Amino acid sequence: MLQVRDLAVEFRTRDGVATAVDGVSFGVDAGETLAVLGESGSGKSVTAQAVMGILDTPPGRVTRGEILFGGRDLLKMSAEERRAVRGARMAMIFQDALSALNPVLSVGQQLGEMFQVHRGASRKEARARAVELMERVRIPAARARAGDYPHQFSGGMRQRIMIAMALALEPELIIADEPTTALDVTVQAQVMDLLADLQSEFRMGLILITHDLGVVADTADRIAVMYAGRIVETAPVRDLYRAPAHPYTRGLLDSIPRLDQKGQQLDAVKGLPPSLLNIPQGCSFHPRCPVARPVCHADEPPLYDAGPGRASACHFWEELLDDECDG
Ligand code: SF4
Ligand code: MG
Repeated sequence: MLQVRDLAVEFRTRDGVATAVDGVSFGVDAGETLAVLGESGSGKSVTAQAVMGILDTPPGRVTRGEILFGGRDLLKMSAEERRAVRGARMAMIFQDALSALNPVLSVGQQLGEMFQVHRGASRKEARARAVELMERVRIPAARARAGDYPHQFSGGMRQRIMIAMALALEPELIIADEPTTALDVTVQAQVMDLLADLQSEFRMGLILITHDLGVVADTADRIAVMYAGRIVETAPVRDLYRAPAHPYTRGLLDSIPRLDQKGQQLDAVKGLPPSLLNIPQGCSFHPRCPVARPVCHADEPPLYDAGPGRASACHFWEELLDDECDG
């Protein structure tokens, strides 16, 4: 359904040109969930914005690649066609519902507007559909609350309303960028469950962008791990958890808080991601890699085929996998 090929995105900044995304390829099928995982600045949000066609501010620019959606390259469409796709066939869920929703319209009006504008529904019909959607996303007393404004809802309920907005026109693809990051852990789980249920019910493709590997375990089918603008590992979720084929992924897995260590600060991957204005030579991860060798400083690893449905951009992926099977 969605096929991204060799996507590259640049940003012009005061200090030079930053390569935010460099040669990213992935696909998403109907009914499939792809998690895109990475630290902030890894290029995951920029990739999502490029797919949605909302890269215009700040001055980001797609410099290479294709974004095929239902067989057509979105990058070759007119602005008008693109808007039509964005309005009806793909939708985005943002981290912060309060700034994504209109503060001066009741949630019932905002939801209803989707049906009036895009489906030519009457005001009365639109209102009924809005309440239906609110029930769908399990907002208690939906009918009574349709007249409330976004700020009158809790963070978790607002996130549900944004999910309802995204679902309204039954899009083929939803992109959720850190949809639960602002919520506390219990509410996070409820919102993720809801999203997963609706996704399988509607058989949509879902791209779930997150920095939290813990969030994706139960939700995603596949994971793409991004680092410094590239995909460094991609694999079916279970394979990746059982045996990561890249040292960065291994570091991320080690940093997932365990239930028995609740509240404890765990070691994330040591060091900081590189500046996108100055990406290290060779393997971009080498300054932080615990198993780097001399070759890593000079030779940039390609994305190696690492078994069925798997790829890794580490020269030593085979050793890593052997290691994990032995250990
Ligand atoms: Fe580490 Fe080298 Fe693999 Fe890069 S290529 S992840 S530096 S071992
Ligand atoms: Mg982001």
